[in-house]
Amino acid sequence: MLSVLMIAAEAAPYAKVGGLGDVAGTLPKRLAERGLKVSVYLPYYSQIRESGREPEMMDRHFTLRHAGKARRVRVGREVSDGVDFFFIEEATYFRRDGIYGPHGGDFPDNAQRYSFLVRAALAAAASDRLPDLIHCHDWHGALAPVYLSYGDAAPGWRSVPTILTIHNLAHQGVFDAGIFPDLGLPARAYAPDCLEHFGSVNFLKAGILKADYVTTVSPTYAREITGPELGFGLDGVLAARGGRLVGIANGIDYETWNPRTDLSLPVPFDGDQLEARERGKNLLREELRLDPQRRSPLFTFVGRLVHQKGADLLAGIIPGMVDNGLQISVLGSGQREIEDRFRMLAGSHPGRVSVTIGFDEPLSRRLYAGSDFFVMPSRFEPCGLGQMIAMRYGCLPVVRRTGGLVDTVFDLSADPEGGNGFVFDGPGEIDLREAVTRAARFFRTGDREAVIKRIMALDNSWRHAAGLYLDLYRKSVRAAPEGPSKEDTDDG
Ligand code: ADP
Repeated sequence: MLSVLMIAAEAAPYAKVGGLGDVAGTLPKRLAERGLKVSVYLPYYSQIRESGREPEMMDRHFTLRHAGKARRVRVGREVSDGVDFFFIEEATYFRRDGIYGPHGGDFPDNAQRYSFLVRAALAAAASDRLPDLIHCHDWHGALAPVYLSYGDAAPGWRSVPTILTIHNLAHQGVFDAGIFPDLGLPARAYAPDCLEHFGSVNFLKAGILKADYVTTVSPTYAREITGPELGFGLDGVLAARGGRLVGIANGIDYETWNPRTDLSLPVPFDGDQLEARERGKNLLREELRLDPQRRSPLFTFVGRLVHQKGADLLAGIIPGMVDNGLQISVLGSGQREIEDRFRMLAGSHPGRVSVTIGFDEPLSRRLYAGSDFFVMPSRFEPCGLGQMIAMRYGCLPVVRRTGGLVDTVFDLSADPEGGNGFVFDGPGEIDLREAVTRAARFFRTGDREAVIKRIMALDNSWRHAAGLYLDLYRKSVRAAPEGPSKEDTDDG
C-alpha cells in the first residue's frame, strides 16, 4: 500500500480560505478510497479549536528549536474517511485569529510559521513508518524537499521522493533575506539554486527546484506559467523543470455539489427535471427582487471581486447588458472599488441587476442552480471551480480562454454537438460582451434543454484527477533513487 505524507496550510473542512483547502481536504479522501495510506499535516489553528473539533491529542510531543527559540509541539489526530489528519499545535505560531493574517492580510512572521510547520511535520512523522512519498502544497509546504536535502532529516528520509503542487503562482512566499537564519538551514541553501531569488528569500522557488515533480492545477496553466506573461518571475525556473512540471486539473466534490440533494435549493432537480430547475429560477428572481421576465436570460457571477477574476470587465458591460434586456446577479467580495461599482450598478438598475456583497454559500448554490449563464472573465485562472460547479447545476459557463477554463469549457459556437459553454479570447470588455451576446442568442434560439442535460451529465469529479495523481505517485516512487541522499542525485 502506497503511503503519502501531505503538508498543507489548509484542508477543508478544518481550515479553508480558497481552492487549496478544497484540494487538500478532498484529494486525500479520494486517494484513500483507492487504497492509499494518506496522512495530512496542517496547523492546529485557533479556528479549528473554536469550531468545536477536538482532535485526539496524541502522546506525541517534542521540542523543536526554530527562529531562536525552543518550541513545544503537540500533535493532534483525527481520522476522517480513512485519512489521518494530523494537527501541529504550537501556541505562539498557530493560536491566533486568522489563518494567514488579520482581515485577509499576512502575519509578519509567516516565513517562520510555515517553515516551522514543515519542520514540525517532518519531525512528528519521523516516528512513523517512512512514507513512500511526500506531497506538499504551495509555498507554505514548499520547503519540505529543502529540509530533506539540507536539513536535519533522518537518513532514510533523504531519499523519499517529493511532489510540490502549485495552486496559484501569484503567491510565492517571498521574504526579506534577513529572515534566512530563522529557517535553520545551512548557509549554502541561500543560493540561486535554492532559496535566493534576486536578493530575497523565495520559498516556492526553492521547492520548484528541489522537488522531484512539480504539479499545478490544470494542464493549460502548467504551460502558461513557463512564459513571462503568467510566470510571475519564476517562468525560467519552471520551464527548466521540463517534463517534471505536470498539470492535473482539479475536480469538484460530486457529493457536496449535487442539485438533487442540495438542501439550499427550494426545488431540487436533476437533468430529467428541468421544469423543476425553471421553478427554482423563478423563486430565485423573487428572492433577488429581479423582475419576473421569463424570456430574459439570467447571468450570474460568484467569486472574488478582484482584478484576477475580471470582475471589473463584467461591471463595465452591465449597462449595455441591461439595455439588451438581460438580467445579472452578482455575489462576491474583494477590492473595495469594485464592490462599490457593483453596488452602484444595482442601485441604478433595480429589477435588472442584483448585487450581494459578502460570502454566502447557500445563496451561491441557488445562483448556480437558478441562473442560465455563469460568467467567469478571469485574466488568469489556475483551475477554477466555479465553472465546474455551474455545469453540474445546469448553468452554462461564459469564460475567458485561460488556464483551467481552457481545459474544462468548450465553445458551443465552435462545436454545437460537444460544446458546453461560451469561450472568448481577448482581454477586453468588448471580448466579454461578444461572448455574452452569443450566449443570449443561444438562450433565444438554441436547443437549451439538450445542452443543459449534457453539461449536467459531465464528469468533473475528483475520480479522474485522483487517478492522475496516483499515476504520478507511482512514477516518482519508481524513479526514486535508493540510498544516496537527494542532494547528490537531484536532477532539478
Ligand atoms: P478561487 O480563485 O477564489 O479559489 P475558484 O473558482 O477556484 O476561485 O473557487 C471559488 C470557490 O469559492 C467556488 O466554490 C465559489 O462558489 C466559492 N465562492 C467564491 N466567492 C463566494 C462568495 N462570495 N460566496 C459564496 N461562495 C463563494
